[in-house]
Amino acid sequence: MPARILIIEDNPDNLELMGFLLRAHGHFVLDAPDGETGVALARSEGPDLILCDIQLPRLDGYGVIRHLKSDAAWRRSPVVAVTAFAMVGDREKMLTAGFDGYLSKPIAPQTFARDIDAFLPPQLRAGAPGAAPGNP
Ligand code: MN
Repeated sequence: MPARILIIEDNPDNLELMGFLLRAHGHFVLDAPDGETGVALARSEGPDLILCDIQLPRLDGYGVIRHLKSDAAWRRSPVVAVTAFAMVGDREKMLTAGFDGYLSKPIAPQTFARDIDAFLPPQLRAGAPGAAPGNP
């Protein structure tokens, strides 16, 4: 069974690459170009996992995580920061803010889908039985 993954990312090139890699591994991908749209889509669509940029228009990644983690329905759903921020202390700051994990940009195309699998329950991982390779 593929996972439904929401990508909140304002850079079209990053969005296209991440979406391509996840779809190629059988996942269903939703996307939002800014934080407000991302929070709204998270609430209306209920994805299995959210990948979230930090520097975003309208509402940044810290605003997104604050909204989602204050919502009882979202407290247990994984939200992973995907960002180029790599300063000492940034990782701790993100985890303290409520993100469940952190992946640094630029993403590694060879391992990205496997890195994402670590945040999904076993039955939703790319290699799980019944996972369809490359849904549209
Ligand atoms: Mn950005």
